[in-house]
Amino acid sequence: MPTIFNHVFNTPVYEGEVSFSTGLFINGEFVDGSDGTTIDVVNPTNGKVITSVSEGTPKDVDLAVEAGEKAFETTWGLNYPGNKRGLLLNKLASLMEEHTDELAALEALGNGKAFNIARSRDVASAISCVRYFAGWADKISGRAIETIEERFTYTRHEPIGVVGQIIPWNFPLLMFAWKIAPALATGNTVVLKPSEFTPLTAIRMCHLAKEAGFPPGVLNVVTGYGNTVGSAISSHMRIHKVAFTGSTIVGRKIMEAAAKSNLKNVTLELGGKSPNIIFNDANLEEAVSWSMLGIFYNHGQSCLAGSRIFVQEGIYDEFLKRFTEKSRSIKVGDPFAPDTFQGPQVSKIQYDRIMGYIHSGKKEGAKIHIGGERHGSEGYFIQPTIFLDTKPDMRIVKEEIFGPVSVVIKFKDEEDVVRQANDTLYGLAAAVFTKDVNRAITTAHKIKAGTLWANFYGVTSPNVPFGGFKQSGIGREMGEYALNNYTEVKAIHVNLGMKMM
Ligand code: NAP
Ligand code: MG
Repeated sequence: MPTIFNHVFNTPVYEGEVSFSTGLFINGEFVDGSDGTTIDVVNPTNGKVITSVSEGTPKDVDLAVEAGEKAFETTWGLNYPGNKRGLLLNKLASLMEEHTDELAALEALGNGKAFNIARSRDVASAISCVRYFAGWADKISGRAIETIEERFTYTRHEPIGVVGQIIPWNFPLLMFAWKIAPALATGNTVVLKPSEFTPLTAIRMCHLAKEAGFPPGVLNVVTGYGNTVGSAISSHMRIHKVAFTGSTIVGRKIMEAAAKSNLKNVTLELGGKSPNIIFNDANLEEAVSWSMLGIFYNHGQSCLAGSRIFVQEGIYDEFLKRFTEKSRSIKVGDPFAPDTFQGPQVSKIQYDRIMGYIHSGKKEGAKIHIGGERHGSEGYFIQPTIFLDTKPDMRIVKEEIFGPVSVVIKFKDEEDVVRQANDTLYGLAAAVFTKDVNRAITTAHKIKAGTLWANFYGVTSPNVPFGGFKQSGIGREMGEYALNNYTEVKAIHVNLGMKMM
């Protein structure tokens, strides 16, 4: 029998210290990993260990898949009515609401994002996502298709079965919600792996799912490393769908594993190097504020970050002046301080990666306008950074940095900026700032990206599809589109008297 265990956080973090089981969640129970090993969870604000979680293994993935299959065949899937699935998801959303402060604190602790932002953005958006898909649970339907009078043909949108989901560390709770909500609403069971760096909210959500009354095996979370647990999920012969959010490099591995195992269906939500375009006639004040949010929100650790800021010649100097002031005013510091906007980067690895990019930018001849250094003396903080005088082939212009680092680039006209904006392997998002509605729309139509904002940046909604062109991904999450990711269409033909020729 696996033992149930309990880790207590070793540092009180906010009033009402948290403690809960941090085992793997398999078949409705919290259990140790099959090797009995654990992974330390580190607080990026000070580099200290917060707690540890069980380290799963491929064997644990097998157990989770078994539990998922059993639940799918007995208590879930087509055996459990959609309206009841919706009720359970709504109950989960209500429990999330009750635990908003705790979930936000766990996000701030493990990821380093500001508690107040986690509370008002991450947790609130995760709740809306769960509620949105709860509403779909009893609205999944096929259709009757007219053929000939002696034939009756219809389609069913059936759940796939056990689906695998692998999520990153930048929005640990929100990505958890984006993944599990559509999968469960459509009647699938789930085996999910959170990031090794930020497993706490996913585990806490399992406690809430249990409390909400989800049958055992419907939701399974196996914490562990990508090259063991992650690859066991993506190559599993009895998982027929895998959804992944993270780096393009790992996305490629997921697709390879899927191809080499059972050709499982894949959705990938990968990186970006999104262009944010400011025309001469833009409302400057607005453009500056949204551009700041576009790149520095979540410390630059956002796949949709507006990391390439293109500014038209006529307003370049004024934009830069105001954007510099705005960026300098960003409050960097303790995620639990009430006015903090930017906390630490998530891990030492990410800190080093970002500093590596800053170094490469300098070496390749770009000019640091502001920032470029570590902030403070402990934790993984980096100053908001702006690079100028870049060239299109520099790494800081081409590659996803995933940190608080922007490049500001001057452009001549619409044709010039569209060409530069599309000169990237990525195609996740873009924005255009102009008072000319026609230009906003024509530019938006010319940019090859999955999401375009005109006169704002970074806002997503649960009912709107999200995903990438080019190497930013495959498929669309969210909205009605997401339902296709988790259903198989079956066509059924019934002979009503048709004779063989
Ligand atoms: P990552 O390696 O792609 O991690 C994402 C998830 O995939 C994690 O749960 C990870 O596990 C898992 N994983 C790693 N190797 C795997 C494998 N071979 N098979 C299956 N799953 C595997 O991303 P990262 O290391 O956290 O960040 C690296 C870079 O990725 C960032 O700098 C950024 O450019 C990009 N990124 C993009 C997004 C996005 O939203 N598009 C999010 C995060 C990162 P582990 O826990 O072991 O890492
Ligand atoms: Mg990794």
